[in-house]
Amino acid sequence: MTDVSTGSRTIEEARAQLGERAVLPGDAAYDEARAVWNGTVDARPALVARAESTADVQRVVRLARETGLPLAVRGGGHNVAGFGTIEGGVVLDLSGLRSVQVDAGARLAVVGGGATLADLDRATQEHGLAAPVGVVSETGVGGLTLSGGLGWLRRLHGLSIDNLVAAEVVTADGSVRRAGEDGEGDADLLWALRGGGGNVGVVTSFTFRLHPVGPAVWVNFVLYPLAAAHEVLLAHDELMRDGPEELAPIGVLGRVPPAEPFPEELHHAPFAGILGPYIGSPEAGEAASAQLRELAEPLADLSGAMPWLALQQLLDADYPAGGRYYWKSANLPGLDAATVDTLVAHAERAPSDHSTIDLWLNGGAIARVPEEATAFGNRAAPYLVGVEANWESPEDDEANRAWARGLLADLEAHGSAGVYLNFAGLPEEAAASARAGHGAGYQRLASLKARYDPDNLFRHNQNVPPAT
Ligand code: FAD
Repeated sequence: MTDVSTGSRTIEEARAQLGERAVLPGDAAYDEARAVWNGTVDARPALVARAESTADVQRVVRLARETGLPLAVRGGGHNVAGFGTIEGGVVLDLSGLRSVQVDAGARLAVVGGGATLADLDRATQEHGLAAPVGVVSETGVGGLTLSGGLGWLRRLHGLSIDNLVAAEVVTADGSVRRAGEDGEGDADLLWALRGGGGNVGVVTSFTFRLHPVGPAVWVNFVLYPLAAAHEVLLAHDELMRDGPEELAPIGVLGRVPPAEPFPEELHHAPFAGILGPYIGSPEAGEAASAQLRELAEPLADLSGAMPWLALQQLLDADYPAGGRYYWKSANLPGLDAATVDTLVAHAERAPSDHSTIDLWLNGGAIARVPEEATAFGNRAAPYLVGVEANWESPEDDEANRAWARGLLADLEAHGSAGVYLNFAGLPEEAAASARAGHGAGYQRLASLKARYDPDNLFRHNQNVPPAT
């Protein structure tokens, strides 16, 4: 076995401490253990350490610090830039920490740092409750939450971080700390977790505030021809200016997937769609949605009531593990005809049928939280454009990445500003986007980084170096 010792301890010692939970090159489980969701990422770590307890996390953090091996922390492994793995370093895999405990009376859930949205949704729905998280069930709660967390509850109940009330954290010195509101934990640490990414430590458990949702919700899902995008997006914008916060739609420009539930004659057709539930009774949702489903002559109206859990899995099949992905984002100050022109022009020339341009309507509860209350920037922006380049073949890497970058460059003329850190692009783009993503909170985050991680152990992320 290769000795990759770089200091006082060796990877062999990790095996002694962690047994089979330490996966090394050459082990049968190695290839599966090193894989992350984005197939463009193909790193070969020196060790994948599968933690099953807070004590395991402490061991691995200390091992990385003492050996000097670079450390990657993996929650759900769905980071688009691939920060859940690392070439030649230690991967601290949290997928063994997935328990979810729900206190229905207090409307709180305590969630393991490696849980997926599916784990959390399943457990909370047993009580008719949900935490505000994202819209694809296989995503990790960890990464999604630490950089914000946008989902269907965002306009009514805010980002995931706005519902994060406490956390257990292993910091760079290997100690376990409690982050919480004043009097219940370290309030500065909680502030840094609310949007600060994995910069200040490894979260072994998150405590979320829950809300009544479901079991069924009304879901608007209307596809219009791409040629009607102006009519659709501008009328939608007008209607939603004073629209209910129970609705948090995403406008999507793309091509119809060749799969159920889409009618066969529409497969591959360019479309402008509106997707999203109403958080309330299905009857109230249907009534509130009437005008929103008649923005132009539709290609198909697939709207209807469905279980909340089914909605949370509706998009899973669009994002197979091992596909090739490059996602970027830009906040928009509003929507006008010229901006829609740009979006449509780029949708038309997308090199891949799987790619989409997503227009997240934000505002509501997100914008009501003061900017300085968390490390998450750009809260006032009414729209976030998510540019999802999704493709299959390595030969198409550059064309697809160039497409995404081209749209972002053209959006600058329409006042785009700031990014969403969970749509992370490539690792080498991370430093620039960290400033744009944290906005006004960047300096405070850098100061707290200096307190909790002065040597920048947790640097394989959208890194915020410690303030000097
Ligand atoms: P990982 O690769 O495991 O980790 C991501 C980053 O977070 C890394 O830097 C890692 O070190 C850090 N990290 C993870 N867990 C912990 C922890 N417990 N403690 C400390 N650091 C940790 N975002 C949204 O907001 N809304 C969506 O609806 C949404 N949908 C998505 C759908 C898909 C298919 C995908 C791939 C992504 C989606 N995202 C969405 C973006 C998603 O939030 C990010 O990709 C996020 O990084 C995924 O987190 P993860 O834990 O799965 O990733």
